[in-house]
Amino acid sequence: MAKKKKRGPRPVERISIILIVLAFMAVSFGAGWYFGVRSTKYKGTVLLVNDKNRLSSSYVPEGLVNLYTSRHSFRLANSEIQLTRETYEAAEQMFHAAEEQNLNGYIITSGYRSYDRQAEVYAQSEPGKAQEPGASEHQTGLAFDVTTETSNGFESTPQYAWLMQHAHEYGFIQRYPANKADITGISYEPWHYRYVGVEVATQIHNTGMTLEEFVKRNR
Ligand SMILES: [Zn+2]
Repeated sequence: MAKKKKRGPRPVERISIILIVLAFMAVSFGAGWYFGVRSTKYKGTVLLVNDKNRLSSSYVPEGLVNLYTSRHSFRLANSEIQLTRETYEAAEQMFHAAEEQNLNGYIITSGYRSYDRQAEVYAQSEPGKAQEPGASEHQTGLAFDVTTETSNGFESTPQYAWLMQHAHEYGFIQRYPANKADITGISYEPWHYRYVGVEVATQIHNTGMTLEEFVKRNR
C-alpha cells in the first residue's frame, strides 16, 4: 500500500494564512490602541477643582481657543469667550446634534476665566455667589455656562432637558446638580457644564454621582 503523504498547506496558501493573521493582528492592535486611549484618557487624572482643591494663580490651561472665531452651532454672549480646544470641539458636536433635533438658540455666556479675572468676579459678587480665585472651575478652560433667550430660567427650557439627556454622550456633565451642595459646595447651577470626556461623563450620568464622589471613588 502506497504511503499517503499528509498534504500540508502549499506555499501560496501558507503566505495567505500569514497575511490574514498579520492583518488580523494589525486591526486588533489598532482597535485596542484606539479604544484604550479613548477609554483611559481621564482615568484617575480627571481634574477636580473646588474650594478644597484649588488651582495656582499661574495655572493657565493649554490650547485655549477663542469661540468667537471658531463656533458654528451655538451663540455667544460676547466675543472674548475661550475654552480648551478639546472642550470646544466636544461642545460644537453636542450643540450641532441638538440643532439637528431643532433645538438651537444655546448661548454660551462664560468659559475660561483667568485667576485674576476670577478675583475681579469674586470682588464684585455678593458673598457666596462666586468662587474665590483658584477655586473656580472656569480657570480650567473645561467648563462653560450656557443659557437661551428665556425669561423663565434655563432649567425650564427644552434645550436644558436635551442637555440633561445627552450632554454625557459628548463628554459633559452638569457639575452642580440640585440637592448636592453638601458635596459640591455649590448650590444648583443648571447652566454650568464641565467637560470630563465621554467615559467619565457616562459613568457620572448613569450613577448620579457628583464629580467629587467620582474622583474619590477612583483615586
Ligand atoms: Zn459656571
